[in-house]
Amino acid sequence: MPGVLGLHHITAICGDPQENVDFYAGVLGMRLVKRSVNQDDPFTYHFFYADGAGTPGTDLTFFPWPHLPPARYGPAKALEVALAVPAETLPYWAERLERYGISVRATERHFGERALTFTDPHGLRLALVEVAGRDAVPWEESAVPPEKQIRGLHAARMLVRRLGPTVAFLERVFELTREGVENGWHRYSIGGQSGTLLEVREDPEGISGEWGVGIVHHIAWRAADEEHQRELRGRVERAGCRPTPVIDRFWFKSVYFFEPGGVLFELATDGPGFAVDEDPAHLGESLILPPWLEPRRSVIESRLPVIRYPPLLSVSSDERE
Ligand code: ZN
Repeated sequence: MPGVLGLHHITAICGDPQENVDFYAGVLGMRLVKRSVNQDDPFTYHFFYADGAGTPGTDLTFFPWPHLPPARYGPAKALEVALAVPAETLPYWAERLERYGISVRATERHFGERALTFTDPHGLRLALVEVAGRDAVPWEESAVPPEKQIRGLHAARMLVRRLGPTVAFLERVFELTREGVENGWHRYSIGGQSGTLLEVREDPEGISGEWGVGIVHHIAWRAADEEHQRELRGRVERAGCRPTPVIDRFWFKSVYFFEPGGVLFELATDGPGFAVDEDPAHLGESLILPPWLEPRRSVIESRLPVIRYPPLLSVSSDERE
């Protein structure tokens, strides 16, 4: 049985929920494929942004916790999410981001990748990386034209105090292979493919990172199905990490654990997917609760802030031909 299949989703902590929706669904033009709540903290939203179909590997999710202090970047935390965009679209993205007040930096990174780096309105570090030939299901209602839309997760970056234990884990348990190192970032992947990349840097002296507004909460990795997840969970346990039991997240099944460097990882199944409890044509339009929270729907709804969706930005559709 193979190791992980690549990135499944990445979850981050944000501030004000409406600002988060306006930026990811509006400015970045991603589809809000699920509007739910944090299953461990049901008075907090959980937003899932993805391609038009919520394909595993395209999904960036957020817990809005505006009461938290700003995050501290440091060892044992993941700190940047790179998203794939089609080749030759960075000029479009630079102009679009600047128009909405986001300052961007053009960079050239590993293996000649062209990227724009910037932070989201709440401080999360993002990169848009040009990737040729990566498909995704377009979201027809996006303010971003289909040929320029984000194609999904490309890579994540994380810091650890000691490189050795983490890379041994990535190689032996996840079966990622080392691609090289640049500026201290050690890159691992499955065959170099977009959507499977993880970059790790050692920071032996740094103050440990802290969760807060504007940082990655966890990185989830794809398991094909429940059997594959069980196999991977066993490997994680044998490697000395302490995985949780399988938790039913309704749209997928999850197992959580801290990798040897202290970053929170998840193993998530590809199915059943976001259309299991909603009409695929109307994903994200209303609040979806897992069945065990349905009896509390009225109290949960009364305590969640009202969200305007689609955001005003995407309604204008100003640059679509
Ligand atoms: Zn997750």
